[in-house]
Amino acid sequence: MIKPGGTIGVLGGGQLGRMLAAAASRLGLSVHIFAPQADCIARALAAHNTVANYDDLDAVKTFAAACDVVTYEFENVPAATAASAANNSQLAPCALALEVAQDRLVEKTFLSETAGVAVVPFADIKSGDDIKAAGDNFGYPLILKTRRFGYDGKGQVRVNSQAEIAQALSALSGDIIAEGFAPFKREVSVVAARAGDQSFAAYPLIENDHRNHILHTSVCPADSDNGKAIEMAKSIMDALGYVGVMATEFFEMEDGSLIVNEIAPRVHNSGHLTQNAGCTDQFEQHIRAICGWPLGRTAPLYRVQMTNLIGEDVLDIETLASQPGMHIHLYGKASVKPGRKMGHVNRQLCVLPARESLI
Ligand code: ADP
Ligand code: MG
Repeated sequence: MIKPGGTIGVLGGGQLGRMLAAAASRLGLSVHIFAPQADCIARALAAHNTVANYDDLDAVKTFAAACDVVTYEFENVPAATAASAANNSQLAPCALALEVAQDRLVEKTFLSETAGVAVVPFADIKSGDDIKAAGDNFGYPLILKTRRFGYDGKGQVRVNSQAEIAQALSALSGDIIAEGFAPFKREVSVVAARAGDQSFAAYPLIENDHRNHILHTSVCPADSDNGKAIEMAKSIMDALGYVGVMATEFFEMEDGSLIVNEIAPRVHNSGHLTQNAGCTDQFEQHIRAICGWPLGRTAPLYRVQMTNLIGEDVLDIETLASQPGMHIHLYGKASVKPGRKMGHVNRQLCVLPARESLI
């Protein structure tokens, strides 16, 4: 167990790193942020800072050696950086989780073949002919996605017919995959923690609504549960030997069956609502898991709706703050840009009936 006074290294300096640092400091732990940007928003809450590129392996080594455990707040940590952190400290979650999550082809293959969960039909694409074959096999529309570095819908194009193939291909760069389109009923996610002793704790099912491919609102517990989602998330985390908090995004189909869309090997935007749910929030839970502390309670006292403040939404903060039951979380970003996540608000919708696990 990493005791109070210990130091947690975080690769990445965005809002997730900032909220991890806030949670760690509440537990008497210090945070060391490693990021290329000198002015990134996580630094305001960190006791120690390294400003260096992720591929500066000397800097990674010095940083990791000064930390009791190293974690990350984004999944595009380069493999060599993760390996150096693992060699010079403990790394949690493990490098395998990064390897799987940062490449959509590796991810879909791992999810279906190793973890044994359902995914959309997918194909590795090397040419227009491969797309045509995917269209013939899966039907249209198809979604083409870059294998790496996509987020918030970036690096994705929808192909509605064979006639759109050439244009779609020219809109994407790098390696790509094709996915069959899932006509889902709703999107849900599971945010769960797994500890080194294999103990496991999940929050109830979260229902997510995206706008312009960016998460807009999340509600937990979802309107109705889907008995299988948590079990599927656990299978994936077990298969990865995962330690920490992970999010699993699902498509729920008309018949109630679940397809895993993607995993995020980190705390997740859809889990921000746990901050005001009256249980251990996802940030503290992640710190507990990677430090070998007992996992906290995940049964919420409140049903909470989280709304992201994207771009100019944040200018309305006075109105938002005046609403009852509204909890404000701002990230301290210097400038407002369209599409930029500036903060989020958590609204407590109602008190939930006492659950057995609370007694
Ligand atoms: P990102 O990394 O940008 O979150 P996702 O793969 O999660 O990428 O895609 C973003 C959103 O686009 C999803 O939440 C979903 O709404 C939609 N989407 C992605 N893939 C598919 C698909 N195969 N079928 C239907 N909708 C999809
Ligand atoms: Mg996604």
